[in-house]
Formats: sequence, C-alpha cells, structure tokens
Amino acid sequence: MAEDLQATVAARLRRTGQRYTLNRRALVDILAASGRPVSIPEILVSRHRLAQSSAYRNLTVLEQARVVRRVEGGDEFARYELAEDLTGHHHHLVCSSCGAVQDFTAPTRLERTVDRVMADVAASTGFTSKAHSLRLVGLCRSCA
Ligand SMILES: [Zn+2]
Ligand SMILES: [Zn+2]
Repeated sequence: MAEDLQATVAARLRRTGQRYTLNRRALVDILAASGRPVSIPEILVSRHRLAQSSAYRNLTVLEQARVVRRVEGGDEFARYELAEDLTGHHHHLVCSSCGAVQDFTAPTRLERTVDRVMADVAASTGFTSKAHSLRLVGLCRSCA
C-alpha cells in the first residue's frame, strides 16, 4: 500500500494515543485491497490467524481514530471500509438479499443535484450539512 496512506494511518492512531500494530496494519491492508466494505467474517477468511475478538477490537480502535468507517450491510453484519477522506467520495449499493455492500461513485451530475438539494434543506431548516452519503437498497447482480 502507498507509504503516505500508512503514514496518515499511523499519525491518526498516534493522535488517539494508539500504536500502529501489526494486526491493525493487516486490517488496513485488507480494507485497502478489498475495494468494497467487508464484514468481520470476510476479514477472518482472508486472515486466518486473526481472532474475531481482536479484529473487532482493532476495528473499533481504527474507527475511533477516523481511519475506518463502519457501514451497515443488508444483513446482520456490519461492514468496514477505510475512511472516505483516505479513499475518495463514494456511495453504497446494499443488497437486501445477500447483504453485500458495493461502492458506487456517483456521476458529477448526481453530486451537483445532491449539493443543490442540501442547499435547499439548509435554507428551509437551518441545518447545515457537511457531508452526505447515499445508500441504495436493492438486489445485487447475483441475487437479482
Ligand atoms: Zn446480493
Ligand atoms: Zn456524493
């Protein structure tokens, strides 16, 4: 993985008083390589020697350090991905049948529309939004 990403992750952990341990590095590597949000069971398949409790604990530490973001899936399992400012702005397609979550980069046209809608919401409610994320629920290609 890119050295600057590793340095950023290490710095964020340091700021919360945490070390960038080998297990945490392994988790960051898996998330960086996956290209979509992954569940703890999926993480354990790719990393046999990692205990479930340790994976959960370390993901929580990484989440608190703003390295990792938790994404709700279409089933009982939460998914995890690298924080959006590390990977780029995107949205999620959630399968309500198998639970899988796919990343989805919206066309500029859609992003502009969302920005306009958010400005309207701010004007009518006084609520200023700083970020947005779209979650489209439906059936993935293999479940459709
Ligand atoms: Zn599916
Ligand atoms: Zn967007």
